[in-house]
Amino acid sequence: MPEAAASAPSLADLTTLRLGGPAEQLVEVTSEEETIAATKRAKPGKPLLVLAGGSNVVIADEGVPGTVVLLRQRGIDVRQEGETVRLTVQAGQPWDEVAAVAVASGWAGIESLSGIPGSAGATPIQNVGAYGQEVAETITAVRAYDRVRDEVVTLPKEACGFAYRTSVFKHNERFVVLSVTFELAVSPLSTPVRYAELARTLGVQAGESAPLTDVRETVLKLRAGKGMVLDPVDRDTFSVGSFFTNPVVAAEAVEDVRRAAGEPPAWPAPDGMVKLSAAWLIERAGFGKGYGDPASGVALSGKHTLALTNRGTGTTAALLGLAREIQHGVKDRFGVQLHPEPVLVNCRL
Ligand SMILES: Cc1cc2nc3c(=O)[nH]c(=O)nc-3n(C[C@H](O)[C@H](O)[C@H](O)COP(=O)(O)OP(=O)(O)OC[C@H]3O[C@@H](n4cnc5c(N)ncnc54)[C@H](O)[C@@H]3O)c2cc1C
Repeated sequence: MPEAAASAPSLADLTTLRLGGPAEQLVEVTSEEETIAATKRAKPGKPLLVLAGGSNVVIADEGVPGTVVLLRQRGIDVRQEGETVRLTVQAGQPWDEVAAVAVASGWAGIESLSGIPGSAGATPIQNVGAYGQEVAETITAVRAYDRVRDEVVTLPKEACGFAYRTSVFKHNERFVVLSVTFELAVSPLSTPVRYAELARTLGVQAGESAPLTDVRETVLKLRAGKGMVLDPVDRDTFSVGSFFTNPVVAAEAVEDVRRAAGEPPAWPAPDGMVKLSAAWLIERAGFGKGYGDPASGVALSGKHTLALTNRGTGTTAALLGLAREIQHGVKDRFGVQLHPEPVLVNCRL
């Protein structure tokens, strides 16, 4: 069946922020062949935006020139070899359905990533992670259409450049991810629980395992308490999740933060650097939960300072204004630069 060329509706309806103007051209695809064909036909010399769940994009109020390819292809192929299961998931498959199937089937490795919105195909883009797991630990290969070489390629994990909330795919229009292969362990128990809050709530020591279903349920509960599970009637979830990544800074910068506001939560990062909590910095810089001018229609979530939300009447311009205010506030107070986690489309901070 040929892909459908829809008239250009507002992209706001396709994003979790409910923000963004129209696309010049919107093409919905439901198979790998349609995805490649639509990508090849994208308006020459104009931008191409691949959109799936719309949960990690901030789209300009003016909309998007060029073509938006909306990925809707689904499917999970399962191959079990002994104690290992290989799942090859089509790019448009909703991610949480994959996590739910894995937990229900007794396959360990992605249980802590339960409740993350969006598609399976987007998980490698920013190396999706939460509660001590990230997809780089279970992805073995990414099948993608390479727009430069005009061919389908299979990138082994080593070629994906996975790091904290990034990969070779982020801010790079070269690859359209078609499917992703994950390798999970056949086990009723989770991988060792590394995240302190999750371990505490499960009643296990950090490093111990817990039944997969308990981990999923506990993660979903913890996430819901922070507005991090989509809920159509809860405006605290009209967001992109975390708006800023946790900043990775040199040890001297941590000393400055300590002097200004006391001991910050901190984790070791590669090359002797230190990862700080963006939420903690934002809060200590004076931006509490719910912060924002009611007239602007945007505000920090009432449940989490790291989520910038649309209260229903917001605009992308207002959201970016709030993001800038927070960025400057944190920079002025601590000298630390916050960087946006979502992809900004036709707009910037
Ligand atoms: C409430 C909430 C909670 C969240 N919690 C987390 C969390 O805990 N951890 C986390 O890591 N993220 C989190 N996120 C962010 C988001 O859910 C993830 O980044 C998710 O993987 C985005 O998937 P998507 O399908 O919505 O991508 P989209 O928003 O549609 O796209 C995001 C970017 O990826 C590109 N892209 C998408 N699919 C493809 C593809 N197949 N090929 C090439 N490029 C593609 C797009 O062009 C765009 O640049 C959260 C978001 C929300 C709203």
